[in-house]
Amino acid sequence: MCGIIGYAGSIRAAPILTQGLTNMEYRGYDSAGVGIHDGRQISIKKDTGKIDEIKERLGIDSLNGNIGIAHTRWATHGKVSQVNAHPHTSCESKVTVVHNGIIDNYQKLRINLETAGHLFISDTDSEVIAHLIEDNFKSSGDYRSSIIAACEVLEGSFAFVVIFKDNADTIFGVRKDAPLILGIGKNENFIASDILAFIKKTDEVIFLENFELVEVSKDSYQIMSLSGEQKIRESVKVAWEASDISRKDFSHFTLKEIHEQQNTIRQSLNQNTNILNDFCDILGNSNKIYIVASGTSLHAGFIAKQLLARVVKIPSEVVIASEFISYADLIDSDSVILAISQSGETADVLDAIRTAKGRRGKIISIVNTPGSSLTRESDQVLFLNCGPEIGVAATKSFTSQLAIIYQLVLILSGRTQDIAELTNISNLVPELLSKEEEVSKICDTFASNTDFYFVGRGLNFTIALEGALKLKELAYVHAEGLAAGELKHGTLALIEEGTPVIVLNPDDETYYETLNNASEMKARGAKIIGISNKPNPIYDYHLQIPTVDRIFYPILEVIILQFLAYYGAISRHHNPDYPRNLAKSVTVK
Ligand code: GLU
Repeated sequence: MCGIIGYAGSIRAAPILTQGLTNMEYRGYDSAGVGIHDGRQISIKKDTGKIDEIKERLGIDSLNGNIGIAHTRWATHGKVSQVNAHPHTSCESKVTVVHNGIIDNYQKLRINLETAGHLFISDTDSEVIAHLIEDNFKSSGDYRSSIIAACEVLEGSFAFVVIFKDNADTIFGVRKDAPLILGIGKNENFIASDILAFIKKTDEVIFLENFELVEVSKDSYQIMSLSGEQKIRESVKVAWEASDISRKDFSHFTLKEIHEQQNTIRQSLNQNTNILNDFCDILGNSNKIYIVASGTSLHAGFIAKQLLARVVKIPSEVVIASEFISYADLIDSDSVILAISQSGETADVLDAIRTAKGRRGKIISIVNTPGSSLTRESDQVLFLNCGPEIGVAATKSFTSQLAIIYQLVLILSGRTQDIAELTNISNLVPELLSKEEEVSKICDTFASNTDFYFVGRGLNFTIALEGALKLKELAYVHAEGLAAGELKHGTLALIEEGTPVIVLNPDDETYYETLNNASEMKARGAKIIGISNKPNPIYDYHLQIPTVDRIFYPILEVIILQFLAYYGAISRHHNPDYPRNLAKSVTVK
């Protein structure tokens, strides 16, 4: 969600900044802009729309200046418009700022500033930051203290980067509850909300902590706390390869990431044994396990809950991250919070684990992004190791989450002999990928349908939820995931002639009952798309999956459903990489 980047270097900033914004495009945005300091003044170019178009239309890449800041906006306050796009400036254009997050008390601050004579031109919450800094700078004449004084009155979540008209060498960045990373290069330095913004330039980074201010020039940086004390922080090398963010020969990142799963599932299983064992000890010794996640990661959490119950025989609760506060009173020092997040920056998840930490709960997490806030705030972390996921809809990160959950469950239950079969799952992925064309034809057949139902029992029910979510995200159609047995308690009323129903029905203990539910729907006119290792005449369309141990079916089924969502989008002429209104890393609550 939104991306900010600042550059201080010895070559022209504009192309580096626009490339950085492009690399963060996947996070989701509605407008983009840059502010470039050419040594005398700051030029601002911004608009709504796609980065490439804005860049061309406004001639951004030809701007001169080796210092600059840039932003992709995902509007929270103020409609999507040119004037609301970032950067924002103060009245005298002395301060230029890009901001990620929400300033909760902006209305009050704005009234105070307006009363003091400041003129606002946008409807955003962010603009108050520029005016506040300008106001402070007038009295202090000091760059750092004017930012620090602004931070003292700002409430909410923010990461922002600032440049000053009177300072052509330096960019400043500060964060509270929103990510900000310092990238250290040779003769150039970066500040950005995402490593991918500058990974092609440097992999040496420092993850800034909350309430840290960083002052950056082309050949130096200084980190300090908001009380002004200097901080010495070691930089780390990040493992993500620059090449991981290219689309290769695939038409979309989403498709590339679906295809990557043979490797990514295998990579996810390649974990440090000590950390795995530590995770298992923590989980195995607790009878108060709360699994906290949002979106697709929440579905991985449901699978974890079921497997912990069925295979390990230990209870756990899944709590939707944004609803965690209702359960907070249950958390104490015996509680374990298992947080699952691709980005490690999901605001709702971070909020939940911080609440739990405040009540002395132990935090363990399964995360993809190295160095993300969740990894730094957890007692123990398992990384997905599936590389950057650019497609907004989670695909490979979900199967990696499942792979790790299976590994934990097999260790915890003493079924370590089954780890070989789990590892072999990755070898079955090509068989699933070979269904691509078949799935795309089915999608064409149902391209004008607007309601889809996904049903299954047990673990397959969770995959039904995931399949429906994916289809909604990418194809913009109404889709519902249901426990097959629940149909007759209401939703069956919606089934009519031609309604497509996707039935997740592997040959496990749920097979015959689910088949009966499929017949009930077929009898009422539904078109049945069966996903199963076993053919059956009930299916109007059968998508064959390999036969595996019954607990492993979810990981196979979901790959077919990812294709279904992808081609659901293609058959409706939507871009699956950039679903409307959605952002990859949901950094606001
Ligand atoms: N709240 C700010 C706005 O609406 C920033 C949103 C963002 O993080 O992109 O402009």
